[in-house]
This record gives sequence, C-alpha cells and structure tokens, in this order.
Amino acid sequence: MSNPTRVLVLNSGSSSVKYQLLDMSDGARLAVGLVERIGEETSRLVHTPLTGDGSAAGRERTAAVPDHEAALKAVAEELAADGLGLDSPDLAAIGHRVVHGGLRFSEPTVVTDEVLAEIERLIPVAPLHNPANVTGIRTARALRPDLPQVAVFDTAFHTSMPEHAARYAIDVETADAHRIRRYGFHGTSHAYVSRRVAGLLGKDPAEVNVIVLHLGNGASASAVAGGRCVDTSMGLTPLEGLVMGTRSGDIDPAVVFHLERVAGMSTDEIDVLLNKKSGLVGLCGDNDMREIRRRIDEGDERAQLAFDIYIHRLKKYIGAYYAVLGRVDAVAFTAGVGENAAPVREAAVAGLEDLGLAVDAGLNAVRSAEPRLISPEYARVAVAVVPTDEELEIARQTYSLVTSAAH
Ligand code: ADP
Repeated sequence: MSNPTRVLVLNSGSSSVKYQLLDMSDGARLAVGLVERIGEETSRLVHTPLTGDGSAAGRERTAAVPDHEAALKAVAEELAADGLGLDSPDLAAIGHRVVHGGLRFSEPTVVTDEVLAEIERLIPVAPLHNPANVTGIRTARALRPDLPQVAVFDTAFHTSMPEHAARYAIDVETADAHRIRRYGFHGTSHAYVSRRVAGLLGKDPAEVNVIVLHLGNGASASAVAGGRCVDTSMGLTPLEGLVMGTRSGDIDPAVVFHLERVAGMSTDEIDVLLNKKSGLVGLCGDNDMREIRRRIDEGDERAQLAFDIYIHRLKKYIGAYYAVLGRVDAVAFTAGVGENAAPVREAAVAGLEDLGLAVDAGLNAVRSAEPRLISPEYARVAVAVVPTDEELEIARQTYSLVTSAAH
C-alpha cells in the first residue's frame, strides 16, 4: 500500500469550523467546507467536494448543530459521502490551526495529552480562540485516536523575534508574572508569503529581507530578515498595530483609563469598543474596503478620512520595518484587502520613491490569483502581491512533520 498523503486541515472558531482536505502529493484540494453558527438553531454546513469533473457543486445542510463534536461528525459524514471519510487509509494526519502557542511552541507539534494541556494553559492569553481550538483537537482525536493530530500555531513564526522587539517597556516582574509580551499573530500567513515572495524573486528565503503586509479584516505587518521574523505589529493580542476592519490597532493605553474614569465605561465595554466597534467600522461605519472605495468615489468624506487613517498607519509601519531591517528586498501585500484593493497598495507606497519603492499603475490594476510583482523594473525594492494560503501552509507543515517522524 502506498503511503497516505492526505491532510485534513481544521480551523475551529468559537461558533464555526472551517476545513479543507488536501492531497500533499501535489497540493490539490479535494474538499473544502465550513460549519457555522454552531450551537444555534440555524446552523449551516456547506461542503464542496473538488474531485471528479471539477464542477464543484457545494452541498448545504441547515439542521441544528449543537456543538463542535456534532459539527465534526457532520463534516466526517459529508467527506465519507464523497469517499473521503476520516477512516480512509489515505489520510496521513489532521492539522489544526491553533491561535496561541505562547513561547513554548515555535514549531508545528504533534498533539499529546501534555501538549493539549499546555494549549489549555494559554487560554488566559487567548480567551477568544484557544478554547475552540482545544475543543476541535479533542473532538478530532476522539474520532480518530490512532491518527497523528498536529497543532500549527499562529504565533510560531514570531517566536524568533528578538527580546528587544518582543518585550513591552513595562515592569519586567509584572510582565513575566502574567506572560505579557508581544506574541504576534497571522504567523502561518507571514511565513508562507515571505517564502513565496523569495521564490518570486528567484532567491532563497535566507537571502532576502521582506516586509509582509497581511491586510484582511484583521491586519498585521511583519519584518522578515532572511526567513526569520524580527518584528510584527500585533502584540499580546491581535489588537495592536495596524488599523483593521473593526479593531483600533495602536492607541495610547491611557485612552483606556480615560474611558473608565471619565466616560464611565466598564472593562468589557472598552474591550468591545476597541475590538469590535473601532478601526474602519468605527471611523466610517463600514469595514469592507470595497464599500469604502465606492463611498469615496461618491465623494463621502468620512469614508475618505477612514481610508487616509488606514493608509497613514500602514505607511508608518512600512517605514518602521524598513528601518528595523536596514535593507529591504520586497514588500508583499496579502489577504482580502492586500490581494484585491489596488488603491490601498498604490496609496501605501506613494511618496516612498526615495526608499526605492514604487508601484506600476498598469501592473497594480491587474487582477489575478497568482503571486506577482507590481513594481516597475527600475525600482530597487520589489513590491509584490502574494495571495496567502494558510490552509496549504498548515497542511504542508503537518505533512512534513508526520512524514519526517515516520522515517
Ligand atoms: P479575514 O480572514 O481577516 O476575515 P480576509 O483576508 O478574507 O479577512 O479579508 C476580508 C476583507 O477583504 C473584507 O472585509 C474586505 O475589506 C476586503 N476585500 C475582499 N475583497 C475585496 C475587493 N475585491 N476589493 C477590496 N477589498 C476587498
């Protein structure tokens, strides 16, 4: 029998599970899907098999899915209906996206009881994400106890950050007692994109310095020197850094005391304000860049100001990471906004010609799902658009770990 080559990637959120089944012999996707509104009356599962003639008709179920266990069982049934069930001998492993790996996990890790306990121990620093990740792992282990389950951490790529970039300038004892430091997130995407951009330049990742701008609903920047992350914009939580869809990014922490003391808001209310009602949505009422651009075209001043604040912050991070790296070979845009919003890319780089940065208007306007350069030939620094693929990266890391362990 040939060796199993398939990897199921699970991304378990608080009320959803997203999944993809990939074949690592060629990186092909065999099925993709999601279960959403878990625990509600009207849960929804959408499953799309990608085998066969490629017509890829999705199947949808809307029965109530009470919990993650039921969700995963429903996913297993859908996969089985296409001959891709969890009991298949072709399945090599399940790769789980885990948001917070703290300082301990700098690499993808095969899940044991001890590893699971450590992921649980990190719940106080990732209360929104790690509980769902733990539930996803437990459920998948119960369904296939014999199969390797691998945890791939969002924070792992950033564990290479030097201490001077990772520490906040606060009292060391207090920080250490509560594990307060800059962990960074979106690491799987930053790792994937920085490697792909090196490939685009025909170079080894160890030879290039890259600024990666992951601009989705959540957004983060990273400075990657020779394949290793040396700084990133998100911190203890994914709230720090760039202006995001609904998150403020950087603010003076005294804003929090002010809201408590002067505005009489509770800690929970401030948490919601900064995480859910700020960023683009707080500034102009919309967090979708398409809608913001449409409003700008109609002369909407609030949308214009929101866009300008977003770009100003982005530019500050490009400048900061340029200085951190000393020499920059490429700036790479990725995720929903970075991959699709040409005006954001143009505005973020505008005026930086003296730093060697420029965008070619024609190349920038091209829409494509392929990694590509959008800088003119003469530019000293390459500007690239690299569609991110976190699932492929999780599958790649998972597969590489289980196959190397088998030898
Ligand atoms: P996340 O994974 O953080 O939820 P994504 O990376 O999917 O987010 O990005 C979602 C965002 O991408 C949307 O909120 C929207 O602002 C932006 N986006 C998606 N498509 C386009 C487009 N064609 N033009 C401009 N912005 C887009």
